[in-house]
Amino acid sequence: DFPSNDDGFIRSYYNRSSSVANDTANKASTIEEQRRQLPAFSHKKQLLYAIEKHSVVIVVGEPGSGKSTQLPQYLYEAGWSANGKTIGCTQPRRIAAAMLAQRVSEEMGVELGTTVGYSVRFSDAFNPETTRIKYLTDGTLIRECLADPLLSAYSVIMVDEAQDRSIATDMLLALLKKILRKRKNDLRVVISSASLDAERFRAYFDSNDVAATTTTAETPTLGSATILSISGRLFPVDVHYLTTPCENYLTASVEAVMNIHMHEPAGDILVFLPGKDDIAQALADTHELAQNNDGLGSMMLVPLSAGLSQEEQRQVFDPMPAGKRKVVFSTNVAETSVTIDGIVYVVDCGFVKQRVFDSVTGIDKLVTQPISRSSAVQRAGRAGRTQPGKVYRLYTYEAFKSGLFSPHDVPEVCRLSLAPMVLTLMALGVNNLVRFDYFQPPPPELLSHALEQLASLGALEPQRAVLTPDFGIYLAELPLDPKLGACLLNAAQKFHCLREALAAVGMLAIGSDPFVVPNGQRAEAELDKRDFMVQEGDVLTFVNALVAYQETPAKLRSQWCRLHFLSSRTLEQADRVSRQLEGYLIRMGYSRERCRQSCGQDFSRLQKCLTSGLFANAAKLEVDGSYRLFRGGPALWVHPSSVLFPETAKPKFVMFAEAMETTKLYMRGITAIDSTWLAEVAPHYYSEAK
Ligand code: ADP
Repeated sequence: DFPSNDDGFIRSYYNRSSSVANDTANKASTIEEQRRQLPAFSHKKQLLYAIEKHSVVIVVGEPGSGKSTQLPQYLYEAGWSANGKTIGCTQPRRIAAAMLAQRVSEEMGVELGTTVGYSVRFSDAFNPETTRIKYLTDGTLIRECLADPLLSAYSVIMVDEAQDRSIATDMLLALLKKILRKRKNDLRVVISSASLDAERFRAYFDSNDVAATTTTAETPTLGSATILSISGRLFPVDVHYLTTPCENYLTASVEAVMNIHMHEPAGDILVFLPGKDDIAQALADTHELAQNNDGLGSMMLVPLSAGLSQEEQRQVFDPMPAGKRKVVFSTNVAETSVTIDGIVYVVDCGFVKQRVFDSVTGIDKLVTQPISRSSAVQRAGRAGRTQPGKVYRLYTYEAFKSGLFSPHDVPEVCRLSLAPMVLTLMALGVNNLVRFDYFQPPPPELLSHALEQLASLGALEPQRAVLTPDFGIYLAELPLDPKLGACLLNAAQKFHCLREALAAVGMLAIGSDPFVVPNGQRAEAELDKRDFMVQEGDVLTFVNALVAYQETPAKLRSQWCRLHFLSSRTLEQADRVSRQLEGYLIRMGYSRERCRQSCGQDFSRLQKCLTSGLFANAAKLEVDGSYRLFRGGPALWVHPSSVLFPETAKPKFVMFAEAMETTKLYMRGITAIDSTWLAEVAPHYYSEAK
């Protein structure tokens, strides 16, 4: 029922709220003016009043209305950190925490890491003495609970992006509800959400007994939760659907960008793609196409995904001079977490990369799958923040309305492995996992799988849901997935190969391949990779590369990386992470000598050590060249980027660090193993592996 156009799109119209636009928004020059024009500004008094009177304030508002950047500053200006305490603001995504801290320190005219700072896993910039506004991931704040169970360093905690419903957000809400019972008068919680489910947050906190106990003369209403809504400012967005489904969303997104650039008036473009690899590819393709069309001079192409340098982060926000158009290729992070001014066109590929856990097979995989309809609405909304915009959906209207796109996202607590959450809850003293007051109770099969996994790693006392003192408690302290944490602790305690285990875990925690294949130099790059390659698989190959990097003098490292087609960014990060993990082990009492113990040429010691953590991911070769877990399950294939991919002689038994599903279910980070190790390192899990 929509008019069809010759550009292959049909169009509809979509307008979520009446626009109370202020057309000077684009002309704002100073930071102060920009701040005043944000919708949050006109709600400042209301917020400060609400937070005086209520221990929980739920703030709902469109993405980009200034919740994340402004609310902490209003609280700071009103003196909420005057007592030397900190205003904390949590984010589900690491990159968002770092970018927000950068922005707010600029707005306040202070150096990042002084009054305003951030702290995320493996990276931080803050000073406990001076930092008053701290952006952190919700996971990092939960880790802080291990050392400071009442979070006494904070006067206000803002749980931002609560609509995302990450496991860590849900868990933090539950912990804050408990903490509020003990700190009824001196802690305030702000929950901010871009969707309209505020009532659910209120109901959860209102069931806290604080409400009943604090209705006294001095604090008449303190304790009850209240909702504050920041009125939206969204311009109409013209929605374009494909008339016929596209075969390849990468090609389609590049074409859409070029079409907009050639035919549409000024305005920046935001392209949503599932992952980092897609982003790199789309960027390279657009670059090439634009060059051939003489259009590159008037376009600036920037990526937005995890792991950007500070310089790259800044580029995302660089205002464009007249006549130049910015194209941001982004993961889901730009859907609500990060708002970029100047976006008028959105290209939505319709997919997102998500982690999914199957509690029957125990496979934890990254899957590229269709987004939810509510996600599509949020993505479209990014085009209409400051003026009417357009969204190009790279799927058909029929597909959108079909069952392919679910109405909402499933919260993480119902679809991920709960082992990390259970481990942390237990370390915080929550032993009755069934009666814990979850924001949303997890499915029982996921809970029992988590307990089984932790028990088989050796983190639980026999037959009891209590952490073992010398392993389980240490495991909870390591900022790692329990499987990887177990590899490290076993390397320290049993296998005496921490030098290499730290390198392996450092690489796996980063999750990026250090080998780069520059366009047109594939043959040379492949040849060079052979210097580091070993038949034992990817992880040992990565270890070789990282150890060689660490042995290269710091001054020569980037040149050395270029020479060997290695990513110096990835290796630098992995090196930093492995040194930080060494710091954790030293604080646990392992000596520096122990941390430097090497397996030398005896690689099997390292392989066995890795098996002691990753054993649940062990698989055996099938006749068709695929692999299957010992407990059965779907066919698993060697990823084309693996060092074991092109060879015909595949190892009989392997173990993988990560599974990902695209056209097939692939294994990444593969290590060849000996099946007899399984019963040895995980007797409960493999009583009779053959
Ligand atoms: P919300 O939390 O409501 O989604 P934000 O506080 O993130 O809104 O965004 C408010 C404004 O701050 C937006 O105009 C956005 O473009 C700007 N902004 C946020 N982060 C940055 C940054 N790192 N650099 C420049 N501008 C930013």
